[in-house]
Amino acid sequence: MVEPRVYEAMRQPIVSHVDPYFFQVAEDIHRLLALVFGTRNLFTMVISGTGSAGMEAAIVNFTDPGARFAVFANGYFSDRITDIARRQGADVVRFEKPWGETFGEEEARAFILRERPAVVAYVQAETSTGAWQNGKAICEAAHEIGALVIGDCVTSLGGMPVEVDATGIDIAYSCTQKGLSCPPGLAPITLSPRALDKLRARSVPARSFYFDLKLLDEYFQGAHRYHHTAPITMFYALREALAVIAEEGLEKRFERHRRNHLALVAGLEALGLRMHVTDPAQRLWTLNTPRVPEGVDDLKVRKRLIEEHGIEILGGFGPLARKVFRIGLMGASSTAENVRTLLGALESALRA
Ligand SMILES: *Cc1c(COP(=O)(O)O)cnc(C)c1O
Repeated sequence: MVEPRVYEAMRQPIVSHVDPYFFQVAEDIHRLLALVFGTRNLFTMVISGTGSAGMEAAIVNFTDPGARFAVFANGYFSDRITDIARRQGADVVRFEKPWGETFGEEEARAFILRERPAVVAYVQAETSTGAWQNGKAICEAAHEIGALVIGDCVTSLGGMPVEVDATGIDIAYSCTQKGLSCPPGLAPITLSPRALDKLRARSVPARSFYFDLKLLDEYFQGAHRYHHTAPITMFYALREALAVIAEEGLEKRFERHRRNHLALVAGLEALGLRMHVTDPAQRLWTLNTPRVPEGVDDLKVRKRLIEEHGIEILGGFGPLARKVFRIGLMGASSTAENVRTLLGALESALRA
């Protein structure tokens, strides 16, 4: 759900993409985003486009043909990262695990030291499986060999502590429509000083004009030289959504997500469902994946939920097709009331 205040902000008159007022809005977004990302990175801004644009920008600016690119692959979005990196001509190596499992410190480290990649990518919050990946050991091992780390924080930002600096992520990106409770359309992105140095030292331009972060840096921070026309309305929306977050307070917001996630899990278990991610510490607070019970048709359940209760949850896909439900509890949608309503509706749908 999007807060009414955010819709309201979107009604404000459009200014030009080089208007000083627009850069004030962009500056507010920069400051507030850094707070939510948990970073002091100077380069913290947004790409015009959805979360996938952030992913593409992260890969395109830091990957060159032939460069070794390591992916921790345990879900749909790490496969998408693989696809984009291969399109860039990178030499992709993958550490694969079944969907829903995560990577331990020792094995992650051994993989990185063995493969010696230039870039390492992992998904902090894997929306296809409901699993959280702790990235600390990955970042430490990568930095030991001088590699940069890309962290996909699309489903964690705004709902869980992303902790870019404390984790050591060099390039983190996200979207507006999940934990930030904003319409889709912008991709927050932040670069560590190490990544920024690499970016600035590039002698060959990135193989994408639109996602060239060097050009975007000059537009936002530097001479405000025209690069592309920013979607002004989305900037108003994001600034307001971030202001809502700052007013709630990060600690309180994360605690709200954690509490509602725990209440949902307790309720699901009381209905006899089991969670796909077995370790509670590795479950997302924003996206919950109970397994579909034996003998239950997940499509019929979801159809009932939407037709009779107006509640949309999603199913699994890929290897988890028909095996899990995916229940989002993000941003403004993460409420105790939503948890209660869903549990009641799910109970009657399962019984039917
Ligand atoms: C949603 C999502 C994306 C892609 O974001 P879009 O806004 O759909 O382009 C990337 N990674 C993860 C983990 C996601 O959940």
